[in-house]
Amino acid sequence: MLAELSPKLIAEVQRAAKLLATKSRICVLTGAGVSAESGIPTFRDKQTGLWQHYRAEDLATPTAFERDPKLVWSWYQWRRQLVHDKTPNPAHLALAEWQQDAKKNKQSFTLITQNVDDLHEQAGSTVTHLHGHLWRNRCHDCGTPFQNEVAAWDSSKEAINFDDELVTCQHCDGYIRPDIVWFGEALPGQAWQTAEDAAANCEVFISVGTSSLVYPAAGLAHLAKQNGAKLIEINPDPTPNTIVDITLAVKAGVVMPLLLQQVIALS
Ligand code: NAD
Ligand code: ZN
Repeated sequence: MLAELSPKLIAEVQRAAKLLATKSRICVLTGAGVSAESGIPTFRDKQTGLWQHYRAEDLATPTAFERDPKLVWSWYQWRRQLVHDKTPNPAHLALAEWQQDAKKNKQSFTLITQNVDDLHEQAGSTVTHLHGHLWRNRCHDCGTPFQNEVAAWDSSKEAINFDDELVTCQHCDGYIRPDIVWFGEALPGQAWQTAEDAAANCEVFISVGTSSLVYPAAGLAHLAKQNGAKLIEINPDPTPNTIVDITLAVKAGVVMPLLLQQVIALS
């Protein structure tokens, strides 16, 4: 695997591993890029098929849902169809192994994600979701969780109904929507508290597959830095994050297993 990387990158991976091997409080924030190699498009990838003329940023908003609930619900049912058979890639698996290892060694390893898929859970991680869950639904008006066969999560993934007919709440007749934090909405309080605590108290903050454009999540790296943490960023493309100490400009699925291997070897 090392052969795929340039000597400069290998040196950076080794530098990151040396830093990580001496630290015992690590916080990792993942974004859509960590699921890209599993075949789940990021919001910045162009949409395909029926949805090619829409921008994700224009659909994932409360205003869009209020204007045309059927359009937004249909889009999420399509995304669910796209995502339901996807499985964790080597980046998810390495993060899960790292977290389990840290637990054995009584170290702190907090995994926070902006993703709404469940690939971290499938890989075996305990993860805090800042932006909600693709497989859960709730009423847009009264917030009551909604559970029935409509796009309900089924562990066998056999019984998912991708019907795009709108569903209404049994309590208030409001429309049922995915339990996802849309652009302009507040983050779930408990999840944000966990993320802030982990970022403020970590020694190393690792940002994986996130464009660092979506706030408040992007602010966690700054909070970590202000509290003395070193920052590592894993992303093949540049981001506006200028406070990073080590950049690994390579796909997460390629570099995460390698980084973990080196950290274990040095610990
Ligand atoms: P984002 O802002 O986290 O950006 C994705 C980043 O991933 C980009 O910077 C890109 O360069 C990088 N990337 C692409 N392939 C990569 C790889 N193989 N390894 C490492 N990095 C890679 O995410 P977004 O797409 O702008 O979406 C914004 C929000 O939309 C997310 O935070 C999330 O709430 C939601 N979303 C979730 C999912 C999901 O659950 N899988 C997918 C799309 C969007
Ligand atoms: Zn309701």
